[in-house]
Amino acid sequence: MERWLPLELASTIRHDGDGGVADDLAAVEGATRWIQAQRDLLAAHVPVAELAADEALRLRVVELRQAVRALFAQAVSPAPPSPADAHRLMPADRAMAHLNAVAAREPVAPQLDWPTGEVPGTRLLSAETDPYVRLLAALARSAIEFLSGPQREQLRSCTAPRCVRYFVKSHGRQEWCKPSCGNRARAARHYRRQRTVAEGA
Ligand SMILES: [Zn+2]
Repeated sequence: MERWLPLELASTIRHDGDGGVADDLAAVEGATRWIQAQRDLLAAHVPVAELAADEALRLRVVELRQAVRALFAQAVSPAPPSPADAHRLMPADRAMAHLNAVAAREPVAPQLDWPTGEVPGTRLLSAETDPYVRLLAALARSAIEFLSGPQREQLRSCTAPRCVRYFVKSHGRQEWCKPSCGNRARAARHYRRQRTVAEGA
């Protein structure tokens, strides 16, 4: 399954398996772990092999996530957004301004990288030396690309009970982020129907 950085970022807020919501970026160690887990997606933008987060970086990544989730909420509208933060979303215009400002911190030039006999790729040329700035700008750029690209129309908020995930629909009739969510949603629907029948009797 294809992975998208902004979706990975948004998904650090997740169902904890126990009716609550967990945040993978709640502590500095978690933020470092998450950054390391994205090293393949970040490779073209910034080397993260040695990158460890500090509290200031963690807060900035969290703020960027707020902006991304606010714009994800706007993207799935008029369908309801993820219930995890539906009641405290950043205003969409502020979210967009934040995303653009973070991306603008690192001017980059795309460079063609085409080793003989291999598939051509893009490498980004940057004069920025602060890896934190580069990381944040890479996350912001990926969100800008995602939201202005074709994936936006496939973005959904999972409506299964207790699920708080956004996901990119990979086939036409997909309603839930994963099969276990589908099972839970169908069971809840069945339960509601049974109750309605019982109440009507
Ligand atoms: Zn789900």
